[in-house]
Amino acid sequence: MHKLENKTKIVATLGPASSNKAVLKTMIESGVNVCRINFSHGSYEAHQEVINTIHEINDELNSNTGILTDLQGPKIRIGELKDNGFVINDGDILNFTTDKIIGTKELIYINYKDFPKDVKPGEKILIDDGKLMLEILETNNEDKVRAVVLHGGNLSSKKGVNLPNTKISLPCITPKDEEDLVFALENDVSWIALSFVRSANDIHELRAKIQAAGKTSQIIAKIEKPEAIENLEEIIEAADGCMVARGDLGVEIPMQDVPLWQKQIVRICQRKSKPVIIATQMMESMITSISPTRAEVNDVANAVLDGADAVMLSGETSVGKFPIEVIKAMYKIIIRIERKGDIYFKKIEADPDPNRIISDIICESATKMAKKGKAKAIITMSFSGYTGYKLSSYRPDSDIYVFTANKGILNTLSLAWGVRGIYYDKFVSTDHTMDDIRFILKQKGCVVEGDIIINIASMPIASKGMSNMMKMSVV
Ligand code: PEP
Repeated sequence: MHKLENKTKIVATLGPASSNKAVLKTMIESGVNVCRINFSHGSYEAHQEVINTIHEINDELNSNTGILTDLQGPKIRIGELKDNGFVINDGDILNFTTDKIIGTKELIYINYKDFPKDVKPGEKILIDDGKLMLEILETNNEDKVRAVVLHGGNLSSKKGVNLPNTKISLPCITPKDEEDLVFALENDVSWIALSFVRSANDIHELRAKIQAAGKTSQIIAKIEKPEAIENLEEIIEAADGCMVARGDLGVEIPMQDVPLWQKQIVRICQRKSKPVIIATQMMESMITSISPTRAEVNDVANAVLDGADAVMLSGETSVGKFPIEVIKAMYKIIIRIERKGDIYFKKIEADPDPNRIISDIICESATKMAKKGKAKAIITMSFSGYTGYKLSSYRPDSDIYVFTANKGILNTLSLAWGVRGIYYDKFVSTDHTMDDIRFILKQKGCVVEGDIIINIASMPIASKGMSNMMKMSVV
C-alpha cells in the first residue's frame, strides 16, 4: 500500500504544470490524495490524457488517488475586448450588451442573456474577483445595461463577473456542464463538483443525471453564493460532500465573513458525516515562489485545526512553478498540526438517521472505545463506504481502514479525513475475515504486535449488511 500519513487530505488541481507523469507521480508520492480536473480550463484530450496517467500511477504505486472533476456552472464573464482591454476610472459610465461583439470602452459583451431582465438599478457588478466594482444605473430589460464605475482599474478580456445582489436566473447546470458531465461519467470519476450551487434542487438535478447514466459518482456542492449560505443545511444534506470555494465566496459575500462561514460549514459537514474541502489561495504565493508566506502556513494549519477533511490547491499545482514543492510544504504543515494540535474527537452531536441507527451507534461507540483504549486502528468492512465516512466524522486519532470489495469506493474514500481504503473480497466467516485482515495490516506495517485494534463488521459477514458488531482486541 502507498503509505501517506496525512489524515487531512490534499486535493491538487491539475494543469500544464502537473500533467507530466513523473511530476504527477512525485506529487502523489508526496501527499496528493485527490486530483482535481477543472472543466473551466483545458481540452477533453488533455483531461483524458491526465486521467489515464492517474490510473497508471495508481497501478504502479498501488495507491487510490481519487479524481474530482469540477463543473464550471453558470460562470458569468465579459467577452473579448479590443486590444485585450483598457483602463476604467471611477465615475466612468459603461454599457453592457448581450449581443456578442468585440468590446470597447463604449460597449462590452456579457455572456448572460437575461442580464438586463434580472438586474435592477443600485445592484453591484464585480469584475475580476471583485477588483473592479460597478453599480447599475439602468436597464432596458432587453439587451442593454448601463453602469457607473465605483472602483476602477484595468479591465481585460473574458474576466469573471459576480453579481452578489442579483437573483440570477441562469440554470445551475449549463449546456457546457452537460457535455462535461458526459465526459466525467464516461471516466467514472469519484467526485463531481458543482459550481455556484444555490439550492438543494441543483444537487438533486445533478444526482438525477448521474443516476440516469447508471453511474455512482459522488457530488460535491461548491459553496460560493449568498443563496448557498442561506440554504446550507439542505444543500449539504442533498450532496455527498462540500467545498468552501473561498475565491468566489469572498467576492459574493463580504470577505471578512468567510472565515466564520468556513468554520460553520466544517461543523455542519462533520455533523452530517460528509467530507468538506477548504479551497483557494491556500499557498497562492507558491505559484511563483519556492516557499509559502507565514500567513499561508497559518491558513493551512487553521483549516486542519478547524477539522477540514481536505485542503485544496488550485493555481499552485495547475500552473505554478513549484507543483512538487507546494505539496511537500502542505504535507509538512498538515503532519505537524496533526501530531501536535488539538484536533481529535471533536464531534459534538450527530444527525440521527433512523434507518442507520445500529451502524451509527456502532461507529460512535467504536471511536469512544478507541479513545479509551488508545487503539492504533479502527477497521471496518464496507461496501458503500458509509461506515468509513461515519467513523471519519468522529475524527479519532486511530487510523481508519476500510476493507471493501467495491473497487469504485476505494478512490472516492481518499477524500475522507483519516480514511485509507484496502481492496478485499474474501468473506468466509467473521472470525476468519478478522484474522485475515489483521494479518494483512501487520504485513503492510500498519499495525504491530501489542497494538489495540477495533474491528467493525456486519454479521453474518457474507450478507454484506449494515455494521452490527465490533470487536476490540490486541494484535
Ligand atoms: C473558488 O471560487 O474558490 C473555486 C474553487 O472555484 P473555481 O476555482 O472553479 O473558480
